[in-house]
Amino acid sequence: MTREGSAVRDLLDRDPPCFSFEFFPPKTDAGARALWRAIRRVEALAPAFVSVTYGAGGSSRGRTVEVTKRITAETTLRPIAHLTAVGHSVTELRHIIGQYADAGVRDVLVLRGDPPGGPGAPWTAHPDGFSHAVDLLSLVRRSGDFGIGVAAFPERHPRSPDWESDIRHFVAKCRAGADYAITQMFFHVEDYLRLRDRVAAAGCDTPIIPAIMPATDIRQVGRFAQLSGASFPDGLAHRLDQARHGPAAGHRIGVDHATTMAERLLAEGAPGLHCITLNRPAAVLDIHRNLQTARSPSVR
Ligand code: FAD
Repeated sequence: MTREGSAVRDLLDRDPPCFSFEFFPPKTDAGARALWRAIRRVEALAPAFVSVTYGAGGSSRGRTVEVTKRITAETTLRPIAHLTAVGHSVTELRHIIGQYADAGVRDVLVLRGDPPGGPGAPWTAHPDGFSHAVDLLSLVRRSGDFGIGVAAFPERHPRSPDWESDIRHFVAKCRAGADYAITQMFFHVEDYLRLRDRVAAAGCDTPIIPAIMPATDIRQVGRFAQLSGASFPDGLAHRLDQARHGPAAGHRIGVDHATTMAERLLAEGAPGLHCITLNRPAAVLDIHRNLQTARSPSVR
């Protein structure tokens, strides 16, 4: 299933575990400065790749393209551009893919995207667009020699009627040419392990990179659950609630929980860790440091 041209898959196969970091396109000048500070801090760790999310709609989409191009041009990092089918005709999608190719971006995370009304809103495809990520994946494959990633869901996709169909459609994306998958955020290691077992039982060996999202503030928790559908451990929520007025304590609690998860995932053979930074990398950098201290040789 490996294609020539997928440096990320190559790294995952050859030299795991791989560290990677996710950013989002900023809305303001101050946000842009924070993003670039974060990118430079992460660059010092020489991660396997960084990724830039694609907005549900509106102007942030252009910024995804701009940020990804700039990472290619001005840093030593390998950027993965997220791309969704939401609100785009096939012609528009071809144009964006062409912009990435022209800018030297070689990796795309191919997603269907959520409806502009949010993950729970009904999905409506663009009349000249795609309904499922697998169709966009085929377009990206036909359009150039891109390395391709797809989404995976440790608690299954919130709209999947059952596990059987969730896994069947996931495996179809892998067979259509996905080189690797990255998961939705999750907070119970067993959910990742069960997903991996189900995918393997379906005869698919595409590497699935778990996403790590350190929860350091109780006020974020409801929003995470709303956006991702991820279930949140009661004990962690309770501890974060008690630390509601102490940012340093919240930071420590979130980092400790995520470090424990990360250690267990790596011990279970996860091919890497994809760290969600929210453009504020302090917590994920602490996790990286904790893991480096615990592991030898060092985690890349
Ligand atoms: P699909 O693979 O199309 O699956 C969506 C649903 O349709 C699933 O229930 C699946 O089982 C079903 N399905 C798939 N194919 C078929 C078929 N042929 N027939 C019938 N049913 C089918 N969203 C953004 O807007 N921007 C981002 O940058 C972004 N980044 C993300 C990064 C990661 C790592 C993850 C895990 C998610 C990300 N998302 C992002 C959210 C994602 O776009 C949504 O969760 C979306 O609802 C599902 O995307 P998908 O690519 O898995 O879709």
